[in-house]
Amino acid sequence: MSRVLLDASNEITTPYSNSHKGVDVVKKYRSLDTIIAHSDGIVVMVQTGIKNLPGSTGNLSYGNFVKIKHDNGYYTLYAHLKDVYVKQGQRVNKNDKIGYMGNTGNSYGAHLHFEVRNPSDTRIDPTYYLDHDLPNEDRSIKYQSYDLKKKMWLPNVLVNTSSYAGNFGNAMSGIYLDYYKLRVHDKVKNMWLPWVINRNDYAGNLGNPIDGVQIEEATYRVHLKGGAWLPWVNKVDDTPSGYAGIYGREIDALQIK
Ligand SMILES: [Zn+2]
Repeated sequence: MSRVLLDASNEITTPYSNSHKGVDVVKKYRSLDTIIAHSDGIVVMVQTGIKNLPGSTGNLSYGNFVKIKHDNGYYTLYAHLKDVYVKQGQRVNKNDKIGYMGNTGNSYGAHLHFEVRNPSDTRIDPTYYLDHDLPNEDRSIKYQSYDLKKKMWLPNVLVNTSSYAGNFGNAMSGIYLDYYKLRVHDKVKNMWLPWVINRNDYAGNLGNPIDGVQIEEATYRVHLKGGAWLPWVNKVDDTPSGYAGIYGREIDALQIK
């Protein structure tokens, strides 16, 4: 059984392994089928216009594909599609038609390559999830900031609430954040510090105030020391709207939703 094919019957043609971090499925009797969304979520990536490219690597090897971020933070990815029916940023519900099985990218015969990724975007064995719900991940994502004046980490706060990390009046110099990928701009060094993900490390240089923040796949805003909240930011790029902050102005609070 499979909940990612319209017909719901499937055969596994290539199982998950250390060298194949997805599962390949076809409809019963090796026939083609429409692909449907595994669970509710948001389409975070779409690739189209790719032909059959045997031997290709990287994203090209997926051919035409759809990647969905689900409400529990997990991702599903559907590769080698002939047709794609959804657009990036689109909200989809479980069972919505998202594409049609194909042979695009590094593929040797039409099939669906299905992946499941955890909230850190690491591929996990998707076999069980072909006909089960994704893990009921605890979505109490927390973050906290370092108060440069008090020289201490402030309490954790939850994303998507009215809480914020920080202390108005005191510059922040470090941020810890669950799951998401983030980096901060060091006001003294006047440079972006390395990306960190999922509390492997904190973002920042505890002795120097922060004057810019970037967080991938989140909506976030910062409060300027002696100022006000700046507009919400929902992307990451090199333009002034692709980060939260104003270079040269210390940040004393951060809010994420
Ligand atoms: Zn595959």
